[in-house]
Amino acid sequence: MQPKTTTLDDLVSLAKRRGFVFQTSSIYGGLANSYDYGPLGTELLRNIKNLWWQKFIHQRPDMVGLDSQILLHPKTWMASGHTTAFNDPLVEDLTTQKRYRADHLIEEWQEKNNQTTDTSPEDMSVKAMDEYIIQHKIVSPDGNPVSAVKVFNLLFETSIGVVTGEKSKIYLRGETAQGIFSNFANISNSTRMQLPFGVGQIGKSFRNEVTTGQFVFRTLEFEQAEIEYFFDPETTDWQTLMESWKTAMWEFVTKDLHIAAKNLRWRKHTDTERSHYSMDTYDLDYKFPFGWKELWGIAYRTDYDLKQHQEYSGETLQATTTDNTRRFTPHVIEPAVGINRLFMMVLAEHYWEDTERSRTVLCLPRQLSPHSVAVFPLARNKPELIAAAKIIYQELLGKIPTTWDDRSNIGKRYLYQDEIGTPFCITIDYQTLEDNTVTIRNRDTTEQTRIGSNQILEYLAKKLDLAEEAVLG
Ligand code: ATP
Repeated sequence: MQPKTTTLDDLVSLAKRRGFVFQTSSIYGGLANSYDYGPLGTELLRNIKNLWWQKFIHQRPDMVGLDSQILLHPKTWMASGHTTAFNDPLVEDLTTQKRYRADHLIEEWQEKNNQTTDTSPEDMSVKAMDEYIIQHKIVSPDGNPVSAVKVFNLLFETSIGVVTGEKSKIYLRGETAQGIFSNFANISNSTRMQLPFGVGQIGKSFRNEVTTGQFVFRTLEFEQAEIEYFFDPETTDWQTLMESWKTAMWEFVTKDLHIAAKNLRWRKHTDTERSHYSMDTYDLDYKFPFGWKELWGIAYRTDYDLKQHQEYSGETLQATTTDNTRRFTPHVIEPAVGINRLFMMVLAEHYWEDTERSRTVLCLPRQLSPHSVAVFPLARNKPELIAAAKIIYQELLGKIPTTWDDRSNIGKRYLYQDEIGTPFCITIDYQTLEDNTVTIRNRDTTEQTRIGSNQILEYLAKKLDLAEEAVLG
């Protein structure tokens, strides 16, 4: 039998049922393109961020971290070009007044009508999109005619202080990158970093997105993990550097997040699609339940951003060669990913309907699982079993992410832990009281092994690939 293909509904349903993701403000009917992360989603998100930080900041001698503000000086966004060029092409349904991304409507129409050899909307100007929509009589998802294509800026505006108007206008950041560029001199002057070096940051970004129905893939508020890697273009070959960053991204996804290579592909941006400041851009795409979509982008942004900020601020944002003979504006390569897209990919990739054993399993890599182990007393109404299980639970709690469950029967507890991705379950039963052994069950194989309770930590350290000294003390 062919394994069932995971649908978006499967993921949304599991995420809600088990407390990974909830609709934001659900008690008020929800807020479009906004989601809250529940107790388990928060842990998964945090584990992904920690892994990213560990890989790209802590384990690299050439990287440092930054935590800049969401609200930056408004000139930042003029310098970066966001106030004028950070736009999406939108059309309005003339009956319902709902807005849609024109490029998405065209893309969906092309796929549905097998017109995939036509020019991709990524490569169309606003005028070309308009003409294409008219020529093919493309309608809204509700079947109504749509307006002409208009461009809308994605930046969220707000006001600072009590006055309103141009003077107090400020933006919620549309990307974390600009906080890195504007701190370039601060970082160079306060650290011992020498080019080439990079600065990484994880933080919230905001975009006034209109597309709905893609779950956490595209939201108004999301978390970005961005790296700006600065270098001297005279001594570092950008193509080689770009390749090495592409390799690092690929390895993170395939080795650390355990994503199958068949579900990933590189896509080079065409000349029309690429941002004006970029010399070369690639997207690392993942095969999401709704098709191939951008997971992670990498762009060679040249010295565009630092030069723009120099011009708008009047400050020097340059570097000097080690022999002090040349001053120059560093160039930059930017790998930028949304943590929430990594999260959604991880859910999609590791969701498994084990039809043979009638269960749903989240086969998360052990570093990502919200809990590494669950502890159960066989029956909840036996104080001696509870007491013995509590001792084991308490001992594990300070060392490994551990959860406790004494609700319903043991079979249901296993099913629950499988669904939330807990790799091991330990059961304390009547035999434990006699010979101090417990059963330990493996999530993926459902095999149960009997071991001495004094061997649990050693067993888990080995199976979970943890540093034994940290666990065994
Ligand atoms: P897209 O084409 O999907 O709108 P983008 O090319 O505009 O994305 P970038 O500006 O390159 O995205 O941002 C870097 C990364 O941030 C993207 O690769 C993606 O992982 C993430 N990202 C961008 N917009 C959103 C969003 N609205 N919700 C969640 N993640 C996002």
